Formats: sequence, C-alpha cells, structure tokens
Amino acid sequence: MASFPSNVQSRVVTDEDVKRTYAADAGPAPRDPSRAVGSDYTVVRARDVADVVAVLEHAEATGTPVVPQGARTSRVGGARATQGCIVLNVEGLDAIETIDPLEGIAVVGPGVVNADLKAAAAEAGLFYGPDPASTATCTLGGNVATNAGGLCCLKYGVTADWVTALDVVLPGGETMRTGHRTAKGVTGYDLTGLVVGSEGTLGVVTRIVTRLLPAPDPALTALATFASLDAALRGVVALRLDRHRPSLLEILDRASVAAVQAFGDYGFPADCDAVLLVQSDRPGHAAEDVARYGELLTGSGALEVAVAEDRQEAELLLQGRRVLSTAIESLGARIAEDVCVPVGRLADYVRGAAEVSTRWRVPIPVSGHAGDGNLHPSIVYAHGDDDARQRAWRAFDELMRLGLSLGGTVAGEHGIGSVKRRWLVEEVGRGEVERQRAVKAVFDPSGIMNPEAVFGTARRPTPSD
Ligand SMILES: Cc1cc2nc3c(=O)[nH]c(=O)nc-3n(C[C@H](O)[C@H](O)[C@H](O)COP(=O)(O)OP(=O)(O)OC[C@H]3O[C@@H](n4cnc5c(N)ncnc54)[C@H](O)[C@@H]3O)c2cc1C
Repeated sequence: MASFPSNVQSRVVTDEDVKRTYAADAGPAPRDPSRAVGSDYTVVRARDVADVVAVLEHAEATGTPVVPQGARTSRVGGARATQGCIVLNVEGLDAIETIDPLEGIAVVGPGVVNADLKAAAAEAGLFYGPDPASTATCTLGGNVATNAGGLCCLKYGVTADWVTALDVVLPGGETMRTGHRTAKGVTGYDLTGLVVGSEGTLGVVTRIVTRLLPAPDPALTALATFASLDAALRGVVALRLDRHRPSLLEILDRASVAAVQAFGDYGFPADCDAVLLVQSDRPGHAAEDVARYGELLTGSGALEVAVAEDRQEAELLLQGRRVLSTAIESLGARIAEDVCVPVGRLADYVRGAAEVSTRWRVPIPVSGHAGDGNLHPSIVYAHGDDDARQRAWRAFDELMRLGLSLGGTVAGEHGIGSVKRRWLVEEVGRGEVERQRAVKAVFDPSGIMNPEAVFGTARRPTPSD
C-alpha cells in the first residue's frame, strides 16, 4: 500500500497491541475461523475532517478498502478489520458543535457518544430520543450508520426519525451535504435517509444534524413479574394497545434475570419466568400511566407489579437491563440475535426459540425490546467448545428462518454487517440486493467502502457467511 500523506501518517497506529484493539467489534467471532483477520490492515485514528478526506483520497487512488469505525459496539461484525483494509476510526471527531433550542436541533461530530449528546441536550432542557443499550459507549456516527434503535423506540422511534442532515465524505474525498437544518424540507431525494442505516458502505459520516425535543418528565418505572412468558407477552399486547404508549417496554426471561442478578444485585426478583420493565415519561401524567399499566399487566396475569419508589430505584432497574449483555457474556461465548417480528407473533417467536434451544442443545436466554417485537435471544456456548459453537450457528440459522416465517425481519436494529449477508438475500431477494448494490456504486464506484459488510464481495454468499 502506498504511504499516506504526512498529515495522516501521524494518525496511523503503530503499536501492534493497540492496533489489535481496533480489529474486532462486539459481534461474534467469524463463523468460519479461517476468515479471522491477520495483521494485514492499517488503523488510522482521525482527529478532524481533513484526516478523513485525506484517507478517502488515498484509499480511492490506491483501491484500498476502508472500514469506517466508531466505538466498535457493532453486534454484526460491521466495524471489524478485514484483510488489507484501512480501519478509519472517527471517535476523535467528538465535538458537540451546536445545541439550538429554538430550531430544536443539535449539530455533532460522528464520534460524540450517545449518552453525551443526551446529557448535553438535557442541560438545555431538551431530549435526544434514540437510546441503544450501549448508550454509554456507542457513537452517533455508528448510530447513524446502523440506524440504531434501543429501549425507547416504542415511543420515540429510531435514529432515522431524528436525523435531518449529514456531511458524508465519499471515496475520493468529496464531501456530500444532505438534508436540511430546517423543521421541514423536501428538495429532491432523501439522501439523508439513504445514508442512515448504510453501515459505512457509502462514505464516512463526519457531521450529523439531529432533532431535539422538549425534555419529557423523568420516567417512572414499573416492574412486573410473570409465571410464564406467554402471560408476559399478553401484557406486552395490552400495553401496545393503550392510548398512551409506554416510553419503554422491555422483557427478560428467567435465564436473563438470573444472569443479571448473578452479575450484581440490580433489584430483580429471584423466582419468576419473565419480567417486564415498563416506563412512562408523559409530562404531568407519568404516575397515572404507570398505575394504569400495572392494572393492565395484572389483568394479563402478572404475579406482582412494583413501581420504583424513586428515581434511584428506577435507574437501578434500568441499569440491570443495561448490564444484561455483559452479564450474558460472562456465561460463555455468545451470538446476540436481533430478529424483529410483528408484535402479535412474539409469542410464536419465543416458543419457536425455545424449541431451537432444545433441538441444538444450546441455552438461548431471551430478552429485548418487546414493545417493538424486537427480541435479542442470545445463543450461548462454552468458549473453546467447537462442537457447541457449530450447534450455536445452526441454532442461529433456525432463528433467522423462524423470524422470516413469522413475517419478521432478520435485523431489527443491529444491521447486516458481515454476519447476516446471506440472510439479507433470503429476506429481500436477489433482485433487490442487486438494486441496492447499484445504488452503492453511484457513491462508491470502486467498491472500497466497507466491502465485507452488507453485500460482501460480488460472489454469491455461502452458508458459512
Ligand atoms: C451491550 C450492547 C448493547 C447494544 N444495544 C443496542 C440497542 O439497544 N440498540 C441498537 O440499535 N444497537 C445496540 N447495540 C449495537 C451497537 O451499539 C449499535 O449498532 C451502535 O449504533 C454502533 O455504534 P458504534 O459507535 O459502536 O459503531 P461501530 O460498531 O464502530 O460501527 C458500526 C457500523 O457503523 C459504521 N460506522 C461507524 N461510524 C461511522 C461513520 N462515522 N460513518 C460511516 N459509517 C460508520 C461501521 O462501519 C459499522 O458498519 C448494542 C451493542 C452492545 C455491545
């Protein structure tokens, strides 16, 4: 690979140990271990937009693949190094440029951490909605690239519902400006919407304009326990049909609750088959909402409904939900799933997942954003047990197929990355994939932008993709 211009050369990571920390993300290890990346990749930590432009000029001129990277919390191998690539990390572009209460927007760099934008907005009496469970670490650039969802989508939608304009550096170094800073705007095609969710396959997002709303009330939290998952899912349906939808509605099954409590005491009950966490933040009516949700859940068969007495207790319960992922990882290696099904088919999905778990003899704790029909079953197996690893991947395939058979999608919020390419084709069809590839070629004719993600190389995906 030709050397970088001198301003970028100083951004290249030379320490091999440090470099390695940028090679992987939070997705599962490659299904085919022979595809694990060696050391043939370069890591550049950009400090400003000029660095990004210089890298994309260089990459286009040399035909070098580029993997844009934020905080590496991708669950689908979208941000990991690939053979011969430049990993272009943009966490350093972390300025909150503007919080504008009159226009109701924020202008931020892609490296701003989700929780930091929320905090800055809150200081101005405003609110940024998208709330991935990884809020404390994931970046806005990553959120835009994956169209991230999270715990509050039921009421506040996903990242695409908030982002109004972007700066995107394209291969070759040109900067494309999309969208509007105004409350409305319909000039031409919605290229902002195209880039949101494109997983780094079109260009590198370097500036984000996003809506902010007036801050809601502090959320009140109720926790309901159930003797069966079926009863809990009846509760989910009842809450979805309520006139004032919850701002959060999460489920944890018995194994997930046990994993959280083994990790630390987050106030979850010891003995039940499922827990629902539900919140309201409706200004002036949160207490009334949570009381009504409690009645609906009792009517659906809840054993007990407890309302958090104060904000501290409410936050503790939410912390328990947020550490769930780390708690499950302490059980072994894990493939985190992300199927989203119509809410009315959730019970079928959960029953099917239990059958898959039995058939392939791998534990599959179930949890996730029940209010959206978006669950994250986690297929767990012992580190180093190759037989269990292979069974886990077979279980993964069956969960994908099950989700599709119920009218769902294989990717509710994590994206396709390098892990689900085969399943993209299964879901949308080859013709649609070819149309999407053609759109990519308009922005990235040389095919250098994150080529292993979403579509992969031009060859037909195999079962080991
Ligand atoms: C514990 C845990 C909980 C999670 N919970 C949720 C959840 O509730 N909801 C949810 O939606 N996701 C969740 N995720 C997944 C992950 O946090 C999101 O996908 C997040 O948006 C990724 O942000 P990141 O900064 O880590 O990006 P990375 O992982 O670094 O990158 C993700 C993708 O975005 C691309 N990318 C990153 N930055 C840019 C940029 N500036 N320009 C162009 N492309 C870019 C990368 O190439 C890659 O394809 C969770 C992950 C973990 C580990």
